Amino acid sequence: MHETNESDLKSPAAVAETERGTGIGTGVSGVSEEQLLSRRSFVGVSALAGAGLFAGTAAAQTRKEMIDARAGKGPTDPGPENRGLLGMNPNSNKPPFTDHGTSAPIWYSFDLAPRRIQPGGWTHQVTQRELPSSKELAGVNMRLESGAFRELHWHTANEWAYMLTGKARVSVMQPNGKMSLDDVEAGDLWYFPAGLPHSIQGLGEDGCEFLLVFDEGAFSEDDTFLLSEFLAHTSPEMVEKNTGWPREVWDTLPAEELYIFEAPLPDSLEKERAFLGEHLEMKIQYTFKMGSMAPVLKNASGEVRVVDSRNFPVAQNIAAALLTIRPGGVREMHWHPDMSEWQYWVKGKGRMTVVTTGGKARTMDFNANDVGYVPSTAGHMIENTGTEDIVFLEMFRAPVYKEVSLNEWIARMPPRMAEAHLKLPESLIRKVPQKKAGILPE
Ligand code: MN
Ligand code: MN
Repeated sequence: MHETNESDLKSPAAVAETERGTGIGTGVSGVSEEQLLSRRSFVGVSALAGAGLFAGTAAAQTRKEMIDARAGKGPTDPGPENRGLLGMNPNSNKPPFTDHGTSAPIWYSFDLAPRRIQPGGWTHQVTQRELPSSKELAGVNMRLESGAFRELHWHTANEWAYMLTGKARVSVMQPNGKMSLDDVEAGDLWYFPAGLPHSIQGLGEDGCEFLLVFDEGAFSEDDTFLLSEFLAHTSPEMVEKNTGWPREVWDTLPAEELYIFEAPLPDSLEKERAFLGEHLEMKIQYTFKMGSMAPVLKNASGEVRVVDSRNFPVAQNIAAALLTIRPGGVREMHWHPDMSEWQYWVKGKGRMTVVTTGGKARTMDFNANDVGYVPSTAGHMIENTGTEDIVFLEMFRAPVYKEVSLNEWIARMPPRMAEAHLKLPESLIRKVPQKKAGILPE
C-alpha cells in the first residue's frame, strides 16, 4: 500500500512545524535530494531534481519557501507599502503554500469603483472592465433615498436584483401592456427581463440600497435606454403626432437624462394598483422574498438558499444562491458544471481558493461589498476567517443552479478506484461526508 506522507494530512502550520522538527527549516541548501523526493508537498519536485535546480525563479518557488514566507521567515519588505491593502489581503501578500502559478484576479470591490452621485442617490458598478475575467455577469450597487427614482428605463440585459437595506417600489411593463407593481424590502429580489421598461423608487424614511446583476459582463449602467432621452431626441413635431400633446409641451420635457433624481413619495401600493385596474399584472411574479424563504440546506455551520427558474419562473437566465456561513465554517469544495460564478459579499470576512487547470491556484480575501469571481467549472472553496457570519450571493448566468460536490464524488467512487487515486486506505476514504452538505462542518 502507498505509504502516506504524514505532512500531506496536516495543515500548513503543522507542515511548517514538521519541517522545523526534521531540521530542514533552516534553508533549502540543507535539503537532500532524497528528502525532496520523499515529499509530495513540494511543487514539481521531480522536474526540479532532474534539472539539478532548486529555488531561484518564481516558477520554481517551493512550498517550503512559501511556508517560511507565511511564517514571517521570508525576505523583508523595506520599500513602500500600502498598509491598508496589505492588512486586508494577507492571502495575497503571503499566499498559502498550496497556491501556485499565475492566475487572473478573482476579486474586485465596489469600494474601488467610482460612484456616480446625484441628488437622491448614487451608483457604481463592477463589470468586465473592472474584473476582466467576468464575461457573463456584471453588477451594480445603487442607493435611492426616500422618494428618489432610478429614471424609467430599459436595457439589453436581463436584470436580477437583491435588496440590501430599506424599501423600494418597483414596476415593470410587459409587451401586452400589463404592468406589475410591487414593494420590496431587505432580503427581497426582483427580475426584469431584457427590454421591458421598469422603475425603482426609494420608499420609507430612508429609501434603500440594492445590488443589481446583469447577464452581460460588459453591461454599463450608464448605457441604458431612458424615457427622457427617447423624448428629447425625437423632434417636437413627431412627439406631438405620437402623444397628442401640444407642440410647446416638448420644450418643458427634460432636455437631458434624469437618471437618479429626487421625487415625492408615491401613493400607497393599493392606490397605485387600483389605478392600473385591469392592466395590473397579477399572475406573473417579478419579485421574490428570498430572505424569508426556507433554506434548501441548513446545518450547524450555516444555510443555503437557492432561487432560480424552478421556484421563480421569470428568472430564465440568472440563478442565485444566498449563503450564510458561521465563524469557523467553510463552503465545501465544489464546482459548477457549466457556468462561471459571480459573487457579492453582503457581510463578514473570508477567503476563497480557486483551483484551475495546470495546478494553478489563487487564494484571496473578501470583505463586505466585495465581488468574487470563479471561472466556469473551476474548483473552489470558501472559509469564514472572521468572527461573525459571512453572507454572500453566488450568481450564475443560467436558468438552473447546479453544483458538483467533491465529497459526494469521492463518496461514490468504488473502493479500488478511490484507493488508486487518493493513495489512502479505504477506511479513511469512507470518512468523507457521504452527501453534499453545502457548508461544513455539519
Ligand atoms: Mn434596470
Ligand atoms: Mn460555488
